[in-house]
Amino acid sequence: MTPYHLNFHGVGDPPPGVDQDEAVFWLTPPQFELAIDLMLAAGVPFEVSFDDGNRSDIEISAPLLKAKGVAAEFYVCSDRLGQQSYLDKADLRWLVGNGFLVGSHGCGHVDWRTCDSHTLDREIAESCRAIDDVIGRRVTAVALPFGSYDRRVLNALRRHGIERVLSCDGAPSQFASSPTPRFSLRGDLAIERQIKQVLSGRSLMRRLWQDARVCAKSSR
Ligand SMILES: [Zn+2]
Repeated sequence: MTPYHLNFHGVGDPPPGVDQDEAVFWLTPPQFELAIDLMLAAGVPFEVSFDDGNRSDIEISAPLLKAKGVAAEFYVCSDRLGQQSYLDKADLRWLVGNGFLVGSHGCGHVDWRTCDSHTLDREIAESCRAIDDVIGRRVTAVALPFGSYDRRVLNALRRHGIERVLSCDGAPSQFASSPTPRFSLRGDLAIERQIKQVLSGRSLMRRLWQDARVCAKSSR
């Protein structure tokens, strides 16, 4: 597992209806390209993922990554497929056909820690099944909505055969069974500074602190 994982939400102008809390995670196209170029220049292996299934994934991000030869994972909410400003079924097929991974971000973008067991099972099983049907292969990767999880959520994902779980914990962890941490880039902060933070994420103190935090969340 590479310790460097950049997580994006949208690139370009956020569509109407995106509130301020989410809008800060939208980057301009030059900010997005700069982030990727800085990682490429650092010469380290890194992973890239996108949450929420915004249309900018297919209109801006995926073509740019393809041109630069960078792999990426796209996590979509099945209930939003085909809605205005979101990816549709043909987009998912294009992504898979072009070598990108498509995974689940749940059905309706709800916090899984607050769901009762029935709803949690539905969120996982139905979203994966809906995406399976579109892309013609089994979905085994999930990005946690809001990065939110506890032991019950992780157990449910395991029960449903999910092999890859992505959080938003920021820094790497040494625990193999914990969700894969990601660094969510923001458009309201300097990109150079954020990438520096990503690249320094292996410092011992930060990792020890992160491991303690992830361990506490996983066992809640
Ligand atoms: Zn999300």
